[in-house]
Amino acid sequence: MLISETQIYRYARQLVMPEINEAGQQLLLSSKVVILGAGGLGSAVIANLAAAGIGELIICDNDTVDLSNLNRQFIYREQDVGQPKTLQAQRFVENINSDVSVKIKQQTINENSLIEILAGCDLLVDCTDHFDTRFAAARASFRIGVPHVFGGAVRFDGQMATFMAGVPGYEKSACFGCLFSEDVKTNQVSNCAQAGILSPITGIIGNLQSLETIKWITKAGETAVNKITLFDGYSGNFNSIKISKNQKCTVCFD
Ligand SMILES: [Zn+2]
Repeated sequence: MLISETQIYRYARQLVMPEINEAGQQLLLSSKVVILGAGGLGSAVIANLAAAGIGELIICDNDTVDLSNLNRQFIYREQDVGQPKTLQAQRFVENINSDVSVKIKQQTINENSLIEILAGCDLLVDCTDHFDTRFAAARASFRIGVPHVFGGAVRFDGQMATFMAGVPGYEKSACFGCLFSEDVKTNQVSNCAQAGILSPITGIIGNLQSLETIKWITKAGETAVNKITLFDGYSGNFNSIKISKNQKCTVCFD
C-alpha cells in the first residue's frame, strides 16, 4: 500500500528509525491484529496499536464498562459505565486515528469462534483474564499459525510471552499449553477482582505486548520466543525465564 505525505509526517517519530522506516510503517498500516479482551491490558494495547497505525484492529469482548474498571482501563470515560466495552473501545480508536479501522466482536469466545476471527490476521494479542479463553487463544493461534502474544497481571505482578508454536519456522517453540496445564485451572491464582490490580502493572505488560506486536509485524528486533518475562512491581525487577516445548502439552504436541 502507498503511504501518504500526511502519514509520513504523522508516523515520523517511528519511521525515522531504520529498523522501522517507511516499509515498516506500510506493513503496520496493512496489518490486521486481533485483541482478545478490552480490559486493563487491552486498554494499553488498543491505545498503543491505534496510535502506531495498525490498519485493522479486531476487538473481542463481551463485557460492559463498570465503574471499578476505571482505575486502569483508561480508554473508557465515566459516561461509558454500563456501555459495551467493544463499542466504547471502537469510539476511542476512531477519535485518535482515522487510519485504523475497527471491527468489534461482542460475543463469548471459544476455540472455533476465534479460529474464524483469526483467519487472515497477523497476530493475536491475548489480554483476557479467563483461563479457559486463554486456552482457546492458545489452540486457535496454534491452528491458524499466528503468534499468541500473552499477557497477565494481578496485584503488583505481571507476565508476558510470545508463543509461536504454530507459526511456520517456529515449530519447535513452546505454546501457552506447554507452560500452563489445563488441570490447574481450578486452582489458579485469584483474579483482579479478588486480589486487586494497579494500573501501571497492566500498563507495563500491555505496553510489552504492543511492542512485541509492532516488532513482529515490522520484523524489527527479536521476538520474545521461548521465554516468559516476569515483572515484580513490588521490587521493580524484571526477570526472564527460558521455556521449552512440553512433550505432555495438550495443545501443540502430537
Ligand atoms: Zn504446547
